[in-house]
Amino acid sequence: MRMKYRYDITMHEFSILSSDNRMVRSFRRLVIPLIAVFCLQTPLATAQSDIPSLGDTARGELTPVAEYQLGKEIMVQVRSDPAYVNDPVLTEYLTNLGNRLVSADPQIRGELANDFSFFAIRDATLNAFALPGGFIGVHTGLLLATQSESELASVLSHEIGHVSQRHIARMLSQQRQDILIPIAATVLAILAAQAGGDAAGAVMMGGQGYAIQKQINFTRDAEKEADRVGFSILKGAGFDTTGMTSFFQRMQTATRTYSDAPSPYLRTHPLTSERIADIEARVRREPYRQHADDLDFYLMRAKARLVQDDSAPALQKAAAMFEEQIKSGSRLYMAAGNYGLALIALQRKEPAKARTYLQQVKKTVGEAAARQSLALDSLTVEILLASGQTADAVREARAATVRFPSSRALAHQYANALYAAKRYDEAAKYLRKQVQMYRDDATLQRQLAKVYDAQGKKALMHMALAESYALSGAYTAALEQLNLARKAGDVTFYDQSVIDAREREWKAIVKENLKERS
Ligand SMILES: [Zn+2]
Repeated sequence: MRMKYRYDITMHEFSILSSDNRMVRSFRRLVIPLIAVFCLQTPLATAQSDIPSLGDTARGELTPVAEYQLGKEIMVQVRSDPAYVNDPVLTEYLTNLGNRLVSADPQIRGELANDFSFFAIRDATLNAFALPGGFIGVHTGLLLATQSESELASVLSHEIGHVSQRHIARMLSQQRQDILIPIAATVLAILAAQAGGDAAGAVMMGGQGYAIQKQINFTRDAEKEADRVGFSILKGAGFDTTGMTSFFQRMQTATRTYSDAPSPYLRTHPLTSERIADIEARVRREPYRQHADDLDFYLMRAKARLVQDDSAPALQKAAAMFEEQIKSGSRLYMAAGNYGLALIALQRKEPAKARTYLQQVKKTVGEAAARQSLALDSLTVEILLASGQTADAVREARAATVRFPSSRALAHQYANALYAAKRYDEAAKYLRKQVQMYRDDATLQRQLAKVYDAQGKKALMHMALAESYALSGAYTAALEQLNLARKAGDVTFYDQSVIDAREREWKAIVKENLKERS
């Protein structure tokens, strides 16, 4: 496989990609619809004065609210793309790790005190990126390349640094003052350039070279600042700060190994060695601090390998690699190998085999460590469900939700188990309580709709579906569901008033969105 190295001008630094890789193509598929959407919404001729809602003219930059809104809009597109990894356990692992870092310094969340979101992208290239508003994506390829949790944490910290320093907002406003590049198009250029796709060129052409040059200059400073902030986050959260240098070096080695034609930019550019030197100096000033990696870090790397490519030949290759890991003699690698084989067995609909591998994992790490692993709890329930042991699945899932009370993945699984066991009343009761606590969780609403359907409650089913669509930003579909709910034979007077209120609220949002874009 021919690998190519690219150094691009965006908010991230390294990306090693193979041009014939289907993962790269899938990320391009993600970028191109985004461009289509934003080109529709933001005419290229938009003057600065026409987009006041996105900026604060006094400060000359995006307001934090507008930045978050922009990020949320981009995420609606990202989440509906096949490259987005919709694996609740993997997402939760990244989210927990990311939030540990974010919590290291109360200042990071900024004036809005927003939560950050972390997610994975199915892509074999080494990359991570931050979107406006604290949405941070990690390629599965990068996750696989990291050799310790501290290395992964160092990449996330750097991206968190970009967000907390509001680099994207600052960059976008600089662009705007100069030649009024539409904000959305610039964000897309960032995404496109990160993907290394031709889409980047497409967006950036058209006499915008000057602005791009300015972006490069800005980004060099931004990179240094993100390194500095990222380092302090990493240290504050108790990770091994040498993770930052070791990951830099790993990427350099990968570059030397794979690049047949390094770009002239890279050959002449001292930035990388300068950045490494900066970080190395910081690391040297700190006493060495060991960090014990979480078992789930190793399990999630095994999962990422399967998520990245689940074609039959890829699974076969992965299985051979997992077998090798089991022979390695290292406890965590043995656990990860067995975990990976269990996932493959599940995928091949062989739950009995999966159970044997799961028992191996538990034997390897010991009962106590196994009970602290969200990934293992989740797999246990999944295997029971696949075997049709629904009563056991309910029992295990409930115990797991007690061990991990804030876990979204396990809450969803518990509801699934109740549904599979046909305990619809309990499922509805549990889900109604959950949606009160987690108002942004579209999955809960989808599950609730499924349960209402099984109970034959048509109006409530359409209302729950409407909520799930609205939470995903699909207001037109949500309004359609409200209409269906209103026409359902079992709609109550109380339901009607809820439907009316929701309809007014969502119609107002749709109107507001149209106004912003016209
Ligand atoms: Zn960066």
